[in-house]
Formats: sequence, structure tokens, C-alpha cells
Amino acid sequence: MTDNVHNKQEILEKYREAGRILKIVRAEAVEMIRVGNTLLQVAEFVETRTIELGGRPAFPCNISRNQEAAHATPKAGDTGVFGKDMVKLDLGVHVDGYIADSAVTVDLSGNSDIVKAAEEALAAAIDLARPGVTTGELGAAIEDSIRSYNLNPIMNLTGHGLSHYEAHDEPAVPNRHVEGGAVLKEGDVLAIEPFATNGAGLVHDGNWAEIYSLVRKKPVRMPAVRNVLKQAEEYRELPFAKRWLESDRLEFALIQLEKAGILHSYPVLLESAGGLVAQAEHTIIITQDGCEVTTK
Ligand code: MN
Ligand code: MN
Repeated sequence: MTDNVHNKQEILEKYREAGRILKIVRAEAVEMIRVGNTLLQVAEFVETRTIELGGRPAFPCNISRNQEAAHATPKAGDTGVFGKDMVKLDLGVHVDGYIADSAVTVDLSGNSDIVKAAEEALAAAIDLARPGVTTGELGAAIEDSIRSYNLNPIMNLTGHGLSHYEAHDEPAVPNRHVEGGAVLKEGDVLAIEPFATNGAGLVHDGNWAEIYSLVRKKPVRMPAVRNVLKQAEEYRELPFAKRWLESDRLEFALIQLEKAGILHSYPVLLESAGGLVAQAEHTIIITQDGCEVTTK
């Protein structure tokens, strides 16, 4: 075995280990999603349990409900509780920067057909994934599955590639028919994540954000801002939660860092017609004749 091949195997093993940790955490967290339980308790459980099992959060535990499609996470001291909601739990785990990304929908709202549509679309895309297939073909399978339930896929959200310390790399994996797209090849690591809705099939930015990431390194002078930047830098380019940072001038510092183009914020994404949204997501590695799902 050459060093290069050796290295490739070690990397694949880290992707698998991230997946193994994620599966345990996901199963335990799903049991905590019950009417009356707090969101913060679930998010903190996911993040501390991930570390306990030898991984690191690749991004804050996302808990998005109902018309929130993605990017919601509890704020510090959040007292919000689950009601009869459609709950998306989206987790990321990394081992030395190699990421597993997976989401499930726990339906407490009595609309399980929307969840089934998202899950079936994910299964259809996974069935197709192999070298030579295009991301456009995956998108077509996703859209067809969801439409067979008389629901809409969310057209302006996509799956994505994963790479070292990079949670949203190329190629995008569309959730709808598109011409062409990237051709999959052995060794590609992808997160496929269909969203199904009884709304319009589009999301827009809400007016609040609890998740940020570092996009540019640049020196800052004010000590309070510098202190927050130093904490943010610990997460490299991976997304982090506002509640993970400590500062008595946190809001001020975040505004300054965002204005300077150093931090990027991820506003909560809302379904444009206020529809309920379900999501299903797995991470896959393209193999010689199909794919390996690291998070199943
Ligand atoms: Mn995800
Ligand atoms: Mn993802």
C-alpha cells in the first residue's frame, strides 16, 4: 500500500467514525423530542454527547420547527419547549475535520406524510448514487418522489459536498430537476438533504440568526471584539452558535465582526408560504459501484 492509499483509508475511517458517533447521538436525542421538553436541553445534550463519544460538533445542533426549514438553534438561556410541532433535528459531527451530517424529522404535529415524502426522496437519491451519475439526476429523483405525495420540494435549498473542515463544499445536490450538474466519482463525500413542504417550496431569510461562521481573517483592534473573534477562531471555518461564546459585549462584537466581513451569519430559513417543512439527510461516500451511507 502506498502512503497515499494508506492516507485515503485513514480519512475514510474518520468519516465512518464521525457517522458512528452521529448515529448514537441522533437516536438518543430523538427520544428527547417530546411535547413539553425544552429545545435547549436537546441541543446541549447533542453537543456534549458528541464530545463524550470522541467527536466534535461540526456545527451547532439545529432544531428547526414547522415553517422553519433550517438554521434554527436555541439561544443562551432559551426556555422554548416543543409543542405539537414538526421538528427537524439536524446534527453534524466531525472527527479531525471529517464530517458526518444528518437530519431527521420528528413529527409531533400529525402530518407524517410530509416526513415520509422527504424520507422517500432521500432513499431514492441514495439508491441512484454511484460513479457517473449526475447531481441533476439525484435532484430529479428527489423532486419526483416528493411530488408523488402532492407536496413541493424546497427548490432553493440543496445538499452539498463535504470535505476537510468544510461543511458546505461543492457540488450542490439540488432538490429538483436541473440540467446537468456535477458527475459523481468514487471517493466523493456528499450530504443529500431533501426538504418536503405543503407550502410554496421556497425559503427566505428570517430576521434573526443564532449561527455564525468565520469567513475572513483580519485583525481587529477593540479588545472586546478581539476576544470574541479569538473564540470564533477555535471553530476554524465551521459554523458555531452564539450561545457557545462568552462576552458581556457579545451582541456588539458580533455586529462589528459581521460588518467587517469577518463573520457570516446564518439567519433562520422560513418557508415562504408558511408551510410545514420536513427534512431527511444522510452523508454518503461514493464507492466503486454505489455508495456507503455513513449515518445510517
Ligand atoms: Mn444537516
Ligand atoms: Mn447538510
